[in-house]
Amino acid sequence: MTQDFSVYFWGVRGSHPSTGPEFVETGGNTSCVEVRVAGQRLIFDAGTGLVPLGEAISASGDLRPILILLSHYHHDHIQGLPHFSPLYAKDQILHIVAPWNIFQDRVWDLLTHASSHSALAERPGLRARRRTMLIEGGERLWWNTESTTPLQVGSDTGPVPPGWIEIQTYRSHAHPRGGSMCYRVTHNGKSIVFATDTESYHGADQGLADFARDSELIIHDAHFTPDEYRHPLYSRQGWGHSTWEMAVELARLANIKQVALFHHDPSHTDEQMNAIDQAARAAHPGAFVAREGMHSIIQRADPPPVETPELTP
Ligand SMILES: [Zn+2]
Ligand SMILES: [Zn+2]
Repeated sequence: MTQDFSVYFWGVRGSHPSTGPEFVETGGNTSCVEVRVAGQRLIFDAGTGLVPLGEAISASGDLRPILILLSHYHHDHIQGLPHFSPLYAKDQILHIVAPWNIFQDRVWDLLTHASSHSALAERPGLRARRRTMLIEGGERLWWNTESTTPLQVGSDTGPVPPGWIEIQTYRSHAHPRGGSMCYRVTHNGKSIVFATDTESYHGADQGLADFARDSELIIHDAHFTPDEYRHPLYSRQGWGHSTWEMAVELARLANIKQVALFHHDPSHTDEQMNAIDQAARAAHPGAFVAREGMHSIIQRADPPPVETPELTP
């Protein structure tokens, strides 16, 4: 039976959270996207959006294993981790996939030192069973939908067993301090791509285009407006982020149906985001501004079997 393949946006901002009434419609939390596929839960990035997601998981009592995949180690992508409530649940299994990088120890530092009880060197309540996997661009993971543990298969190019989840990686070097890991999740022939904190080039990043080709949805960095990016005095070129135009260009080039504009500049108000949404939709019918609380269905579950009505005399 086919299960839902869905994407949920819990945090869509870049750099730092935004607060105030002018940001409510788009949302103020930093990078965090949940993907539910084949009955498993994958989480991309651990920005502040991870905090309400953790609360929702804890409230539901759901103790299925969780796989968190980090794009890189900038603070807006990891700052929610110590406040992720499933970390404190005894029967929770948590896998963290993180890119090889000279900053990789930041995650473990964060877990052992970051604490609201600052006198404690280590938070005593981190009771979840945790396993970490370091990954390099080009390597893959598989996940048997029945298993509690994903399988790291390296760069093996063999076929994915039918019904399994496949996670491929691509390291974008177009971001300061070691680049950013992009992920492609495939199940039953349908794929989504998570590609944040990457600066596109003139004519698009061809490597990323090949990696993301023919996917259903790409979640793509769109931090700056084109005017900000090209500003004659304060150009943002080289800062490691894209514009919505670049995101749309890549989606077009790679035959991607939908493009979610992501990692919004924290100063962009709802009014500005609405203008970006309109302009992007006019350029590509599948483009939209990702907002907190939004979700996108990639594949619906099979309809439940039709029940035979009871016979009445
Ligand atoms: Zn960022
Ligand atoms: Zn970054």
